[in-house]
Amino acid sequence: MPFTQLKLHPDLLRGIKDLGFQRPTPIQADAIPPALEGRDLLACAQTGSGKTAAFLLPILNGLMQKPRSRPGTTRALVITPTRELAAQILEDLKDFAVHTHINGASVYGGVGMGPQEHAFRSGVDVIVGTPGRLLDHFRQPYAKLNGLEYLVLDEADRMLDMGFLPDIRRILRHIPAKRQTLFFSATMPEPIVKLSHDMLHNPVMINLQRQSAPATGITQAIYPVATHLKPSLLLKLLTSGEVKEALVFTRTKHRADRLAKYLDNQKVSVARIHGNRSQAQRTDALQGFKNGRYRVLVATDIAARGIDVTALGHVINFDVPAVPDDYIHRVGRTARAELTGSAFTLVAPEDEGDLRSIERAINKRLPRVTISDFDYQARAEQRLEVPHAQRIAEIRARKADERQRAKANADRRAAHGGQPPSGSHRGGHPGQGHGAGPSAGRRRFGSRRPSFR
Ligand code: AMP
Repeated sequence: MPFTQLKLHPDLLRGIKDLGFQRPTPIQADAIPPALEGRDLLACAQTGSGKTAAFLLPILNGLMQKPRSRPGTTRALVITPTRELAAQILEDLKDFAVHTHINGASVYGGVGMGPQEHAFRSGVDVIVGTPGRLLDHFRQPYAKLNGLEYLVLDEADRMLDMGFLPDIRRILRHIPAKRQTLFFSATMPEPIVKLSHDMLHNPVMINLQRQSAPATGITQAIYPVATHLKPSLLLKLLTSGEVKEALVFTRTKHRADRLAKYLDNQKVSVARIHGNRSQAQRTDALQGFKNGRYRVLVATDIAARGIDVTALGHVINFDVPAVPDDYIHRVGRTARAELTGSAFTLVAPEDEGDLRSIERAINKRLPRVTISDFDYQARAEQRLEVPHAQRIAEIRARKADERQRAKANADRRAAHGGQPPSGSHRGGHPGQGHGAGPSAGRRRFGSRRPSFR
């Protein structure tokens, strides 16, 4: 079915044509017609399915066809979990509305309140915001959305995971009950079902029986490898020509930092994006990755929400996601809307359990791949982090060493009638091991190459 059959305003169809979209994706074909009729929607849609257009197009169409009741009134609000998603949705809105007079603004944390206050005061047509910052504004007298006609809840399950549900309920107190609501969530856990009951009136249900699997067109493969060799295996993939550019996911911000540093040392152009980075740093990383300045973008899950890189070829799970849904989400970053891509996952023996849960969830055993000229027996060159148990053993060894030296000093002092022996100032006191000479604990580290610690 072509877009022209969707009864959208010709100026919107022009915007869609400019973007090169030819046919609606399944979620768009299902969601747009009832939404154009004014129905509430409850839609299960994964990232990459084209869900943004599925909610923006009918809203833009409504805004164009129905005149505003009062001038200077915000008529639509989109609530989304992350800054990146908010920025991306606003970009999409501008693209679709390029031949119209509709305007929008984003409202999220990490940047100044001033321009956002102006957006509220001047009554831009559409506000796209994250829950925390929206509430900050609602505490001020200027933030009034009395004339709101459309509300979108995007990635509701992710907002639940991030603890935003109470904030959403608070936001609902600031907007009219009479409105059209479009509710999108990748999964439907119980609290989300309850929230949807409270927010929706006789909704049209879309794709609630969705197949829990990444889009087709994605080549998925597993690279079994010992944890300490993951950085060098990734480097191998990047240098062998197998992978040109990649979005690489790590389990923690710390590991994202260390991995980025490692790749940078190996002369791979790399940027990183995670919760501890400022908005300016995140924007630079994303822009740089999109325009090819960086080959690799290392990211943690939450920060990666909303990363939309057209024609992204490779997603690499440097760490196996603990939750199958996160795997599906991450992998959905590639092969978006009819393109093809690949998703590689580096799996250490201790990750096998998590991998099995993922394979059960997608109902498929993923192929295992080994690289013929990679040394799987190599010793650890560098580590991303020292395992917890080893760190504790090292601290214990150092403390025992310090206690022993303190005792030896005390014995010596006693033998010298309480006078410190000459040259014994380095003997130190318990707890001052740093200034002391090489200790057993330190010698153990001494032989290791400069590490990621
Ligand atoms: P979304 O799931 O909304 O994040 O969209 C995923 C990607 O698909 C974005 O890059 C969109 O620009 C693109 N896209 C959305 N709808 C279509 C369509 N009908 N045809 C081609 N690409 C699309």
